[in-house]
Amino acid sequence: MDRARFVPYEMRSWVYQDRPIPVGEGRSIPSLGAQAALIDALRMVPGERVLEVGTGTGYAAAVLATMGARVDTVERLPRLAAAAAERLAALELDVATHCGDGFEGWDDRAPFDAILVSAGAHEVPAKLLQQLAPGGRLVIPTRPHEIRQTVLRFTKDADGHISEEPLGELAFVTLLGDILVEMGAATRQSVEKAAAKPGALGDALVGLGALSETDLYRALALQRGLPLGHVESLLTDADPMLAAGVSRAFLEHNRMVPLARRDGRLLVATSDPEASVADLAKAFPSRRVELQLVTPTDYRRLWAALDLWDPVGDLPREKPEADPRAADLLDSRVDPDAEGRNRALFEAILLDAVGARASDIHFEVYGESVRLRLRIDGEMRDLTHITMTREQLSAVLNVLKVSSHLDIAERRLPQGGRFRTRVGDRTFDLRVQTQPSLYGEHAVIRLLPQDENRLPTIEDLGFSKEIATRYRRLLDSPSGLILVVGPTGSGKSTTLYAGLQVLARDATRKIITVEDPIEYALRGVQQAQVRPHLGFAFANAMRAFVRQDPDVILVGEIRDGETALEAIRASQTGHVVLSTLHCNDTIDTVQRLIDLGMHPNSIASEILAIFAQRLARRICDGCRRPAELDPTLVSEVFPQGPPPGFQSYVGAGCERCTGRGTYGRIAVVELLEASPGLRHAIAHRLSVDELREVVEGDSLHSLRKSALELVAAGKIPFAELRRLLPPERLAPSTGRADIHRVGPRRTG
Ligand SMILES: [Zn+2]
Repeated sequence: MDRARFVPYEMRSWVYQDRPIPVGEGRSIPSLGAQAALIDALRMVPGERVLEVGTGTGYAAAVLATMGARVDTVERLPRLAAAAAERLAALELDVATHCGDGFEGWDDRAPFDAILVSAGAHEVPAKLLQQLAPGGRLVIPTRPHEIRQTVLRFTKDADGHISEEPLGELAFVTLLGDILVEMGAATRQSVEKAAAKPGALGDALVGLGALSETDLYRALALQRGLPLGHVESLLTDADPMLAAGVSRAFLEHNRMVPLARRDGRLLVATSDPEASVADLAKAFPSRRVELQLVTPTDYRRLWAALDLWDPVGDLPREKPEADPRAADLLDSRVDPDAEGRNRALFEAILLDAVGARASDIHFEVYGESVRLRLRIDGEMRDLTHITMTREQLSAVLNVLKVSSHLDIAERRLPQGGRFRTRVGDRTFDLRVQTQPSLYGEHAVIRLLPQDENRLPTIEDLGFSKEIATRYRRLLDSPSGLILVVGPTGSGKSTTLYAGLQVLARDATRKIITVEDPIEYALRGVQQAQVRPHLGFAFANAMRAFVRQDPDVILVGEIRDGETALEAIRASQTGHVVLSTLHCNDTIDTVQRLIDLGMHPNSIASEILAIFAQRLARRICDGCRRPAELDPTLVSEVFPQGPPPGFQSYVGAGCERCTGRGTYGRIAVVELLEASPGLRHAIAHRLSVDELREVVEGDSLHSLRKSALELVAAGKIPFAELRRLLPPERLAPSTGRADIHRVGPRRTG
């Protein structure tokens, strides 16, 4: 029985929230092995009456019922009890779920042949022993506050005498891999793959790109019973004097940073889940130390923020207690080296951006104020906890210009450059664009992670199984044109790179790319950057490269007729050609190729497939729950009524997604695969509307269909349909061609 099924979407955020595991409530989760051992220790035979105390997710009750027991299970928390009851009822197992104090047993149903306390208890509840039938067994883990618990078995003989036997210790910490799978942060397959690698499981998963650092630390926090801290809240009452009073080497070695005094306690952040506070407590003898776990990125952000703290500035902060040693340390940090300080400021911003998964950093200036914004999941968000003056901004821009080999003195013309830097254990390519504006110079930095392991695979893109399979099959073709179209920022090149990775693993094929710019370095692929000002544009590069005998050519973008013709020519001479095109949908792409001067017959014979792509907001795995359907949208999308059992989901908002309910984005694609009908229609120059009619229900997997598949799978909110589809495409295709025919006819 798969336990992951017992921790459904709507419960995960509750079971796995960021706070110490409330052991008293029995939410310390036994590992799968421990759970099996407990059930084993019951010596249950089919047909027996079993009481389980501490239903939790309902998993143990389900296992017992499957083994033939008649199960009563008691859960103290109503919300858990109701959820488990629903889940167990759906499985049609012989289980009665009750809500109440399980340590009191369940009088109405007593006596029991076996009682299992799943929750762990300080002492053995007498009431439970009373409710044992003659011959009955009670199995109970004790010492619930500790990770290793002693399991006891009590047996009642025919005369009512009770004997006790210790069964040894069980580890009650869930394996990290189990937590990650149940959180929905990693798949079972990726955990198994990572487990085969040397080193810590979490690091291996992160290294494989199968897990984010934040999710790893959420899981570690949960496993260790530590709260997971966040930079913004940790810094609200941070006192830099605290860290200044302790040797920096000691703190760095222990990966700790003391941050604030709170009600007689000392708040300390650490990125080490095994951290021991004993040494730190010696430095602060009078205070109780309270640890909060932070991700390594956040740990560096905390130091960056503390180091930037302006001791003579006007930042409001609590007056430090006089400590001459600390004051000296602090004074030595009043940095005469302005350049160093500006670098530190930039470093702090960069760490914030990486920590927030931003794709771009925007520096803007309006009058006297500087606005810092990050683009995260396609949306701009203000970075409010770092404030900059105009002078600091121009100093930081100078640092950027020097790093990316731009002209420092030039402030009236836009400039573009790049440089590579490490942020923590990751390497980023930073593309810097500066631009003059009314109030001064603006700058945008695009962050391109360079770790190949982090390049999404076809599966990671979020394609449905069917589309992923079709994409792989298309890549196997001996020749032909595969196009990915969509607006800027719709993830077109990511989709192509995912395909290239598949091709690069096939050593029998030679792959060449012509790009502008090269976004990721790929092993096994010969990549080239176009230099139009040197006469090396896409079309020239294509002509040159075909002579190098490749099997696959990726052209970054088809922008002009010349490149379009070279692409067709390469396809005709036996190459697979992958490229992107600025176009809104698959059918319009055919027209666009004709407009670029391609002959309809060539398009008809060479096109393999066109993907039209959008990015949709992905529901956060940490807080997904079933949603009420918006009746207006339902009536627009399903004029005939929704399909039976149609269900949609939303994110309720949790710490992982900072309350937004969505986390990351997912590709939604329309796929038009070449078919005899389509080839015939293109060659006969049918209009766009007529083409659409030909492919509907034939070789077109529409955007609407893909979007609805993702809605039903709980990947995107139903409301995303409004952002993905124009109003006239919300409804199924019937009658749509009529709407289109009202407009002017385009002919080929
Ligand atoms: Zn969430």
